[in-house]
Amino acid sequence: MKIVLPTSTAGSLPKPSWLAQPETLWSPWKLAGEELTQGKQDALRLALDDQRQAGIDIVSDGEQTRQHFVTTFIEHLSGVDFESRRTVRIRDRYDASVPTVVGAVERTKPVFVDDAKFLRQQTKQPIKWALPGPMTMIDTLYDDHYKSREKLAWEFARILNQEARELEAAGVDIIQFDEPAFNVFFDEVNDWGVATLEKAADGLKCETAVHICYGYGIKANTDWKKTLGSEWRHYEEAFPKLRESGIDIISLECQNSRVPMDLIELIRGKKVMLGAIDVASDTIETPEQVADTLRKALQFVDAGNLYPSTNCGMAPLSARIAKGKLKALAAGAEIVRRELTDGKLPQGSVGAPACPALA
Ligand code: ZN
Repeated sequence: MKIVLPTSTAGSLPKPSWLAQPETLWSPWKLAGEELTQGKQDALRLALDDQRQAGIDIVSDGEQTRQHFVTTFIEHLSGVDFESRRTVRIRDRYDASVPTVVGAVERTKPVFVDDAKFLRQQTKQPIKWALPGPMTMIDTLYDDHYKSREKLAWEFARILNQEARELEAAGVDIIQFDEPAFNVFFDEVNDWGVATLEKAADGLKCETAVHICYGYGIKANTDWKKTLGSEWRHYEEAFPKLRESGIDIISLECQNSRVPMDLIELIRGKKVMLGAIDVASDTIETPEQVADTLRKALQFVDAGNLYPSTNCGMAPLSARIAKGKLKALAAGAEIVRRELTDGKLPQGSVGAPACPALA
């Protein structure tokens, strides 16, 4: 049976307090060795269970096995020196101490493939796996070798494609590339950003997604958002090119953000993973608030192409609030599903192919 409006999260979920310091990004692990391996798997199963109990349709690992959505992937590559750190400005917004590219980058072994296999064993529901996108990766590093953002992005695209193909073989239904940098470096997005993203997704038969957001609910991001004015039109820059791309799903944020909803029109025909949960606020949305955001989006996207989701990852939130938000998301989607069935809303192409894994 096909699910209309399949729900999912953008990515990370809070980690248990016995595994890592809660409500903190880049939080150090509290376990080591075999205990850490076991602890990560236990945390993954708990994150999966939270999603299942809330009624989320497309589930993920909640990024329980990684400290950070970009650096954990990079840690597994050769050519990057984590001892030699430099301070760079990330996404033109905040300074961070990052590792240095000192030689040719290579993926010497799979990064998340065992974790994905473990998740696959735990559930028959469709699973989504997030990887960083090439442009966001180069923006979280100091490059002392290629000395060209574009060259390094192509190298990362090649490496990401190796990983993505193995994740697909492990049974992942949707592979998502996180590209918050697409909301910042507009010229590069159009020159080579979308092209390197397509290279990362090259040859995949599973569904592919790109997640573009305004970031986690951390202070550097909320301060930045205050400077963006009353209308956030950043998506306008990348969407036309993404519409022409081979990427199946575009994940964007809409809840409590100042993104004009009609920008979704620019990706007409694509599947839209719509952020209907604000991750920068501790206030848990009501199901009706979620439903209202979804109804507004349905003016610009056919119901068969709408995937309700969260604005971004929820790692920095408390476990209680994140769980409440998951439930609100599922309940809000259910309200709109019923309205579609009752004919209270225009159906659009509900009959169009949804996520093949949900068919
Ligand atoms: Zn995000």
